[in-house]
Amino acid sequence: MAKYDLRNNESVSGSLFVDTTCIDCETCFHIGPDIFEEKKNLSVVVRQPETLQEWQRAKEAILSCPTNSIGVKEAPAAFRDAVVKLPRTIVDGIYFCGYTSPDSFGATSYLIRHPQGNILVDSPRFNAQLVSEIEKMGGIDLMFLTHKDDVADHKKFREHFKCRRVIHKDDLSPDTADCEIVLEGSQPTILKSNLITIPTPGHSLGHMCLLYLDRYLFTGDHLFYNREEDKIYASKSFNWYSWDEQLKSNTRLLDYHFEWIFPGHGGWVHKDSEKLKDDIRKIK
Ligand SMILES: [Zn+2]
Repeated sequence: MAKYDLRNNESVSGSLFVDTTCIDCETCFHIGPDIFEEKKNLSVVVRQPETLQEWQRAKEAILSCPTNSIGVKEAPAAFRDAVVKLPRTIVDGIYFCGYTSPDSFGATSYLIRHPQGNILVDSPRFNAQLVSEIEKMGGIDLMFLTHKDDVADHKKFREHFKCRRVIHKDDLSPDTADCEIVLEGSQPTILKSNLITIPTPGHSLGHMCLLYLDRYLFTGDHLFYNREEDKIYASKSFNWYSWDEQLKSNTRLLDYHFEWIFPGHGGWVHKDSEKLKDDIRKIK
């Protein structure tokens, strides 16, 4: 529960606020880009929501914030009326889960509805409401872990849904040692029809991306999207293994076709495949 007495005074006044326990994970920025912004390395409210739809976004940000740093004082009627259902559809069969975890620094988790069983990409917080909605969608068959950082509540999801967890051998830790499917080497693996893992060492040694239908690429911490500059980038400062290897992994990704990029932090993007690849080629 966000604390009003810890409210960040950089915010505009009004009932929606962010407190100073914010860790600047950027989750709220892409949920409500016209409501939340970064100021002095913390998230603040730059405009109070007005319409029901804006309050829905604000409510989704409240539920998704990993540190419960967003709150409402004296909730207006529109806030009470706003209905938020997570996972929410992004595009046909691909869902944003919200409910991010502080254990993964607010990493974004996605759900893929697949005819051969649903796939959860990285781990959100194990939240009862989220779990209940995922149950209604048919549960989880596979939990794909892009890399060691974004595993959060993987054990609880495994226990509840009996899903098989997929991770690369080179990113195993004592916490993930009992994962059911441990991939090895640098070759892609077909997990289900139209669903392949692509090893992308760089950010971590065992990092992998996931490609679905030659259209949707889930990139974990390998690639991100910068909304202001409208471009794909990779982070040299958040690189735990090898920047040179990360660049080589980028070259290998260019062999595939994809039109959407779903990163592990920040927002996702849909563009012409060649435009996305042009951005990737420019990363040096
Ligand atoms: Zn990471």
